[in-house]
Amino acid sequence: MAESNSADLMDKIVSLCKRRGFIFQSSEIYGGINGFWDYGPLGVELRKNIRDCWWNDMVRRRDDVVGLESSIIMHPKVWEASGHVGGFTDPMVDCKVSKQRFRADQIFFSTVIVDGKNVGYVTVLESERIAEELQEKAETFKRKKAIQGKLEPIQPRDFTEAKAEEIPLIPSPATGEPGSLTPPRAFNMMFETYVGALRDESAVAYLRPETAQGMFVDFKAVLDTGRVKIPFGIAQVGKSFRNEITPRNFIFRSREFEQMEMEYFIADDDDWAKWHRYWIDWCREWLISVGIFAESLSEYDHPKEKLAFYSKGTTDLMFKYPFGVQELWGIAARGDYDLTQHAKASGQPMEYFDDVKKKRYVPHVIEPAVGVDRILLAILCSAYVEDQAPDEKGKMETRTVLKLHPRIAPIKVAVFPLLKNKPELVKKAQEVRDLLRPYMTVFYDEASAIGRRYRRQDEVGTPFGVTIDFDTLGEKGPELADTVTLRERDTMKQERVKISDLLGILLPRVR
Ligand code: ATP
Repeated sequence: MAESNSADLMDKIVSLCKRRGFIFQSSEIYGGINGFWDYGPLGVELRKNIRDCWWNDMVRRRDDVVGLESSIIMHPKVWEASGHVGGFTDPMVDCKVSKQRFRADQIFFSTVIVDGKNVGYVTVLESERIAEELQEKAETFKRKKAIQGKLEPIQPRDFTEAKAEEIPLIPSPATGEPGSLTPPRAFNMMFETYVGALRDESAVAYLRPETAQGMFVDFKAVLDTGRVKIPFGIAQVGKSFRNEITPRNFIFRSREFEQMEMEYFIADDDDWAKWHRYWIDWCREWLISVGIFAESLSEYDHPKEKLAFYSKGTTDLMFKYPFGVQELWGIAARGDYDLTQHAKASGQPMEYFDDVKKKRYVPHVIEPAVGVDRILLAILCSAYVEDQAPDEKGKMETRTVLKLHPRIAPIKVAVFPLLKNKPELVKKAQEVRDLLRPYMTVFYDEASAIGRRYRRQDEVGTPFGVTIDFDTLGEKGPELADTVTLRERDTMKQERVKISDLLGILLPRVR
């Protein structure tokens, strides 16, 4: 993030995404719809590259992982067996005055204690500075009420921890006044729909809230046809839907998003902790390979007492987003819970016969689950840089550049004729474009001054620029004929290379 590691980095990224066609608010001409986003021309490419990199590394380059694409709407019994119908809930709180809704675990409050006496409560919404903001609010509260004495340090709790008698005293984050917040109640996040012509209870179905259940439900089908042997994984990339109470932080928490999940099945007596560690390390390395800063990543082990009863351990890879350190990738050791649940509910055995161990068992599973959109945002946060570069006249100006890893950059190379009104230059530039296009995404641009064209490509993260000038045409002598200027985005260094060498130079650098 370099020089731009500031509170307004997020605003800059959102604005760049809109300005340059990465991400738009969905249905914007109708005022937008909260929690839904559209990916524009460059966003689609970036997203596809992330997905393709993951698929190549996770599935195609491994012998032990196979792919799957299951349907988004599945039999409703899938979601009963998985526990989602009963328990896929977030605690929701209403503010009766403002009519706003909050997730209880995103409201933080503290008692204000002066000289050992509880004199009131202060509230903030989840942010990077919960403790500081609560402390500031407590000081303001004390000053406004003209309370004398020593203010004790605040003790943040989230609203799920509020005692019944405290709830009427805690100010609403919407109004700042106490008395309007309801006690938290469970809100199921699955989107419902109806399948078929009837609109009654029997026709209710759900948009999947995760892709993972497809791998469990199809476990037997893959086992019987896929020539797989334990340990092995089934991977899937696809849309998931969650009716989040408070979608926010741009694409970080949306109601429609894309997941890349993999279920890695191991023997019932295998060392699950070893495999868990293996996948945490794999995920971390993979994130770094697509351009995410290692220093921005950390691990969070879910405390034992907060784990579901079947879970052996869950570790989240956390990323330092501008709005705080948040979950990027969850790696969970889920035991044999999911397969056993589906075996019970469907009456179909979900066992594996291990011909090495000569026994039959229900495999255990390690699940690395990540959202494409959260990776994309982490990549943008890692890549966004403002540096100094000379303008046309040599005067230094601020340059915005996305230092995207060439593997995932939406455009790999931009091709520029120096002038657009010289047919020989244009013709040559188009030949270079056509030479490179079968191998990589190429953007051909002949509009405006060359410096402006470089800046436009820097801003969207294009790692290389190729300029065709009069030297290319041999006007300065035959030794420079059919050579071009190759410019590198990050260093802005330019070198003269032969057109016939271009592909050989670029290909290894963009793959
Ligand atoms: P959170 O606690 O942030 O709601 P979660 O623990 O519910 O996330 P999982 O159910 O483990 O998330 O989903 C796996 C991954 O899917 C997450 O690590 C995240 O990358 C992604 N993901 C989950 N919910 C969303 C969402 N609403 N928008 C975008 N990505 C999401």
